[in-house]
Amino acid sequence: MELDCQACGACCCNSQENIDEGYVDYVEITRRDRLFRRAELRRRFAVKNERGAYHLRLVGDEQRCAALVGTLGRHVQCRIYALRPEPCRRVKAGNGECLRARRTHEIS
Ligand code: SF4
Ligand code: SF4
Repeated sequence: MELDCQACGACCCNSQENIDEGYVDYVEITRRDRLFRRAELRRRFAVKNERGAYHLRLVGDEQRCAALVGTLGRHVQCRIYALRPEPCRRVKAGNGECLRARRTHEIS
């Protein structure tokens, strides 16, 4: 089955395991990421933790990435797709992490 990321967005939210453990650092943004060098976008879409490391900003009850727009499971879009950090690029539709995220958000 082919999964359509633009009709999903589940992995663009903090995982339930992380939420349960109170883990707020989501996807790290490093100096190797082009987003890191875009100060204005970094201010808008990232937060710095107490160790000084940048992570994607999470918003709302779903703890979704601030760069995600749209409705989960229907139609979503990443506002910084071309500049998304490396961990976002490694996510593969259909892998274990993907399927877990989809189950969490009840996206079949
Ligand atoms: S959870 Fe899977 S299908 Fe959904 S956006 Fe992420 S990679 Fe794509
Ligand atoms: S930067 Fe884009 S791809 Fe990465 S979690 Fe946020 S919305 Fe998803």
